[in-house]
Amino acid sequence: NAPPSPPPVKTTCPYCGVGCGVLARPDGFGGAQVKGDPDHPANFGRLCSKGSALGETLSLDGRLLHPMMRNGEGELVRAAWDDALDRVANGFTETVARHGPESVAFYASGQLLTEDYYVANKLMKGFIGSGNIDTNSRLCMASSVAGHRRAFGSDTVPGCYEDLDEADLLVLVGSNAAWCHPILHQRMAKNRRERGARMVVIDPRATPTSDEADLLLQIAPGMDSVLFCGLFAYLADKGALDRAFLRDHTAGYAEGLARARHIAPDIDAVAERCEVPREQIETFFSWFAETDRAVTLYSQGVNQSAQGTDKVNAIINCHLATGRIGKPGTGPFSLTGQPNAMGGREVGGLANQLAAHMDFEPESIARMRRFWNAPNVAERPGLKAVELFEAVAQGRIKALWIMATNPVVSLPRADAVQSALRQLDLLVVSDVVSGTDTMMASPHVVLPAAGWGEKDGTVTNSERRISRQRAFLPQAGEAKPDWWIVSEVAKRMGFADAFDYASPADIFREHAALTGFENDGTRDLDASGLAALSDDDYARCDPVQWPIVKAGTDGGKRLFASGGFFTADRRARFVAVADPKLAATPGRLLPLLLNTGRVRDQWHTMTRTGKSPRLGAHIGEPYVAIHPKDAETYDIAHGGFARISTLHGSAVLRAEVSEAQRRGEIFAPIHWSAATASDARIGALVQRSYDPVSGQPEMKATQATIAPV
Ligand code: SF4
Repeated sequence: NAPPSPPPVKTTCPYCGVGCGVLARPDGFGGAQVKGDPDHPANFGRLCSKGSALGETLSLDGRLLHPMMRNGEGELVRAAWDDALDRVANGFTETVARHGPESVAFYASGQLLTEDYYVANKLMKGFIGSGNIDTNSRLCMASSVAGHRRAFGSDTVPGCYEDLDEADLLVLVGSNAAWCHPILHQRMAKNRRERGARMVVIDPRATPTSDEADLLLQIAPGMDSVLFCGLFAYLADKGALDRAFLRDHTAGYAEGLARARHIAPDIDAVAERCEVPREQIETFFSWFAETDRAVTLYSQGVNQSAQGTDKVNAIINCHLATGRIGKPGTGPFSLTGQPNAMGGREVGGLANQLAAHMDFEPESIARMRRFWNAPNVAERPGLKAVELFEAVAQGRIKALWIMATNPVVSLPRADAVQSALRQLDLLVVSDVVSGTDTMMASPHVVLPAAGWGEKDGTVTNSERRISRQRAFLPQAGEAKPDWWIVSEVAKRMGFADAFDYASPADIFREHAALTGFENDGTRDLDASGLAALSDDDYARCDPVQWPIVKAGTDGGKRLFASGGFFTADRRARFVAVADPKLAATPGRLLPLLLNTGRVRDQWHTMTRTGKSPRLGAHIGEPYVAIHPKDAETYDIAHGGFARISTLHGSAVLRAEVSEAQRRGEIFAPIHWSAATASDARIGALVQRSYDPVSGQPEMKATQATIAPV
């Protein structure tokens, strides 16, 4: 008789910010059978194509299995862990001693678990004494963070996924959720089908998401703020305001409305600037005005913009004006891209915040000193991603550690990033896979990290829900969890007492304790109810939403229905947004705008999803989409090859002629790289402009041209 198979391990999908629960059962051959966890409140057993193919991505092909160091001849050769860790620790210590703490930096990733992020942030901001730890989440949701902080006084998502089931109007802005957040899109489509909720999509492109919508506003790039300023003014004109909420819980209404009227004086002006028929604008405005249960979801079309923070606040203004926040079926809702973008920002992964959502204010810095017993806490924000890599190019950053991300593919002006990395005195790359484009940028030390299924920790999804990732496979080769790697380096730098962690549970307890440390209720992120978890409790921990001020409670389904914002006077702020203007407009030589994004079945730079033939069958090669009239103008044939060029680079792609594109705009997905396809790194074509508040780069509107190949 065959022995009974062990029960499946409950874990969390490592791809998008939906954070679906997964049941994984090792198959005995190094892989696993994977299905959705019916008990997880994010997905109730469903998985999208990427999640259901996770078991096909676990092979050791391409895995980084042991540390490596560059030798005297410049070759990367296998090294012992002790030697590699010593080299990293000595390199950072010597650089700090010679050039000061701001000459070093970490560039982390929304792929890291909260515990990994916590120790990396603690080492950089607490003990090295620099704010220079930023993350690829800067490319993902930094504008949402900044918009939340301006409006609410804190980086707080007010609602939860149940709101998507209970809304009567679902407005998706700059979001192809059908491909990028499929399980949430399925929930919304079900609501539309079964409850009759209306769905409005606002996007320059027609997408699979708009295929299911009641209304598509195919607006001109960058004009989202004009649209939502127009909506704000319309709501005021029609008396569709929540006067009591405005009076009791907000400030800045008059200034915000005056600016909105200035930017969008009437519907005709909105229609003209958005380049959308007036009737469509009027339909959207009237639906919003008459529907109490309205949720506005937004994603990278809003965030990845040189006006991203203003776009977020223009949306939030409309929800504050109508009091549609924190109540069932209402709210502005940021769809986070990555599995742990939220967890990373909770523990200080962004250069402009301390841990536990604290700012660089004197009392917060002092609190961090007391909590960590760290005399050297950074006293000012560090460099945000784009600036950070420019500081590398300028020689101001001399030692850099890149963790679990591939900036030579993903950052704007990626070729410049690649050149800058070669100038570093010390480049450390820790990752799960070898052979990435970043790995080819001459690192001095390469460290193998444990992958999904091999490590333990937590992630926080888009609705503030903390879920466990659990190990169910042995660690590959000599790979180690990121928290262990960072802690070992910290010990070798002389900080042994502060980094003496035996397990991720130790780190999580410390993080939870910090959220409640000297917290008088004026800080949003309170997970202190989890600070006393035993190792067994941590191992069992069910998905839970913060704030959790009392153990055993799920304290944070919705916030702000009755005010209680985290500003000094507990009132939300209307923001008087700026009149939007694209960072770069098309010209004679570069007459088009390049928009970038994702496809349904690939994730980031394809280091995992690229292993699944099933996923590759959906869209198997890089492409550029172009409107038929533009294709005619530029002599581009459907299915032929085309070269797209910008001021920063060029790529040869298969042409897809499609009515889904607006005229004057082309679209190319971001996933392919030199490691997966020649000449198709779209990041290398993207401009450097970024939002002045959030630092998030504009990745949706780069001047470009196209020619047949
Ligand atoms: Fe994973 Fe996102 Fe798909 Fe859920 S929706 S299975 S979290 S990729």
